[in-house]
This record gives sequence, C-alpha cells and structure tokens, in this order.
Amino acid sequence: MSFTSLGLVPELLRAIEERGYTEPTPVQQQAVPVVLEGRDLVGSAQTGTGKTAAFLLPILQRLKDRRRGVLRALVLVPTRELAEQVLRSAQAYGRYCGLRAAAVYGGVGMEPQTTPGRLLDHMGRGHVDSSNLEVLVLDEADRMLDMGFAPDVRRILATLPTERQTLFFSATISGDVDRLARRALKEHAAVEIGRRAEAAHGVEHILVAVDKAEKRGLLARMLEKVPQGRTLVFTRTKFTADKLARHLRREGKEVAALHGGKTQSFRTATLERFKNGRTRVLVATDVAARGIDVENIVMVVNYDVPRDPEVYVHRVGRTARAGAQGVALTLMSPDEWLMMRDVEKLMGRSFPREIVPGFEPSVAPLQPEQRAKPPQRRGPSVRARRGGARVR
Ligand code: AMP
Repeated sequence: MSFTSLGLVPELLRAIEERGYTEPTPVQQQAVPVVLEGRDLVGSAQTGTGKTAAFLLPILQRLKDRRRGVLRALVLVPTRELAEQVLRSAQAYGRYCGLRAAAVYGGVGMEPQTTPGRLLDHMGRGHVDSSNLEVLVLDEADRMLDMGFAPDVRRILATLPTERQTLFFSATISGDVDRLARRALKEHAAVEIGRRAEAAHGVEHILVAVDKAEKRGLLARMLEKVPQGRTLVFTRTKFTADKLARHLRREGKEVAALHGGKTQSFRTATLERFKNGRTRVLVATDVAARGIDVENIVMVVNYDVPRDPEVYVHRVGRTARAGAQGVALTLMSPDEWLMMRDVEKLMGRSFPREIVPGFEPSVAPLQPEQRAKPPQRRGPSVRARRGGARVR
C-alpha cells in the first residue's frame, strides 16, 4: 500500500517523500482513511508505530485551504518533550499546507507535568479561543491519567465545542482510560484500531537472572558487547539512575542520567548529546523518558523489572522503531521474578532465563509459568479489552 492510495493530497505526499517514508505503517493505513472521513477514532497504538503521522496527516488535509488564523485542531499530550515532537512533525508534514502550529507547555524549570495545566492557564486568561475548534486529539491518554491530568483534561473538554472530531490514542486501555474515552467521544461512533499492548516487532527480548548487587557490574559488561548505537537504560527511581550513571562513568562509559529532578536546560542539553551521539548511554526514569524520540536506539535495558507490566511495553517500545531491530535486556533479581511473570502474562509470551558466567544468581531463577499462548485477537473492542487479560 502507498501513501497515494490512502487519498492524501500532493502537498502532503511531497512532505512525506522528503521525510523519506516510502510506505504507510499499519496504524497509518488504518487510521488515515477514517480520520479523512471525519470520523472519531480510538486507537490503541503505542509510540513507535507511526501514530503521530497517522493523525497529523489527515488532520492537515482536512484543515488545509479553509479558515486560517483560528485554532482549529488541538493535540493534548502528557509531556513537554512530546508536545515539541508533535509540533516538529506537524511543521514537517504541513510545510506545503500553509497552516501554522504552536506548542504550549510549562515554563523552564518546571516539572514536565504541566502541559495540560498550562493550556488551562491560557484558556482561563482568555488567551485561547477554542470556539472554532474542529478536531481534538488526546494522545497517550493512559500516560496523561498516570501523571494525574484527569481533572485538567476533563476541564479542557468542558470548554471545547461538542461538534468536533475526536481522536483518542492510548497504548493501553484500562477502565479509567475507557471512561475518559467515553467522555471525550460522547455518543460518536468511534472506529477502533490497533491491538492490545504488545511490544514492537523486531525486538529481541533477553532476560538475565542476576543478583541485585551484581546488576551494575553485569550491565557494564553487557554495554561492551553493544559497540554501535545508543542504549537507553531504565531505572525505577531517580536515586538509582544517578548512582548507576556515576558507577558506569567510573568504568569509563559515556553515560548521562535523565530524570525529573534535573533542570529543563540540563535535560535539553543531555538529550541533545544523546541524539548527536556524544552520549551513548542514557540512564532515565520512566517519566523522564516519555516522549524521547531518538532514532537508532539499539538496546533498551530494564535495570529493574517494572512493577506495572505495561511499563515494560512502553520501555521496550523505545527500540526497534519503525521496523528496525532492537534488543530489550532485562536484569532480573530474585525479588523481581514474580513481577516478570506478570510482564510475560501481559505480553502473552515468555522468555528464557539466561545466566551470564561470572554473574550467576545465588538462587536458580523461577521459570516462566507454563501456560498456553492466548490467541492473538485483532481489533478487540474497548469493552473487551477492559475485561481482558490485563494484569496488575
Ligand atoms: P511515532 O509512533 O509517531 O512516535 O513515530 C515513530 C517514528 O516512526 C518516528 O520517528 C517517525 O518519524 C517514524 N515514521 C512514522 N511514519 C513512518 C513511515 N510511514 N515510514 C517510516 N518511518 C515512519
């Protein structure tokens, strides 16, 4: 399938060609025609699937050539980084459409968790006139709820025209996300695309059993085996991120830590160094890593097994983007064996437990639960997903 057969206009096809995309990703193939028709959409696509273009391209096409100079489309996202990224994409795809885009987010020095709140500020002061709004996108709705934005999002929804197109994206659809979707989409018949949380294809999952105290030594060793490309290491806490980065630096690695405790200017500079390759390894907490759009991340490391299995899917989605190959390395200590089983349940597959010579765990690792692989469902309904195999 080609972009032309999706019904996109020459202005967009030209911009797409300049970005170097040759064919639409599956989520783009499904979403573009639906959005072009003006219908509402609920998508369970995760980051890395090309979902940004999936909603931006048809929106740009619908808005092109008509009323300019008023706010007609609003994309709500959970973090400043993501807001900037969506803005850059809108500018790139829309460069021949003659539309203007802007990003609104909290000021320098603030936590990233100010994005929808900042929009509310502007609305409250009368800086934003949303009466001409035609399209609303709620992107990464699950993250927005995780970060406590539900009240802000509800308040924003209340101020928007009810006659509008609404596009709703979330990597996972829990009960809360489902409720927000119902509120945002009202009685509109939404088309659902995508599947339940599932990590990107092309990812090789490696699960290593190791004692907690040996993790950092093992990671230093593993990093030597991945000489090319960037590595993103996830830790649960800021404290561990800093400590691990310090340790790896002492081992002579080019490493930086990124978390919500750092200033915005530090975070911007750190990301820049990671993007241009001067820092090869970035140790980050989950919140700080949201919205990092860096190409060529060859390895994602789960320095700890996330408590919430869905976080595993989010983390791993950072590698093997847009069809590339990547490795997801998880270091699992004995206290994390049960959490790893939850991850495997969510993903509907299990991974062999590996042991690296010299780093043998003090106890033999618990093997994956023996269970049949669940059937792969395509396009389940929001309701079906809510009652589905979600594990907490
Ligand atoms: P997203 O899921 O929107 O974060 O996109 C993930 C990455 O895929 C971004 O770096 C996009 O630039 C890239 N991308 C989006 N659509 C395509 C496509 N059709 N072909 C190749 N890369 C794409």
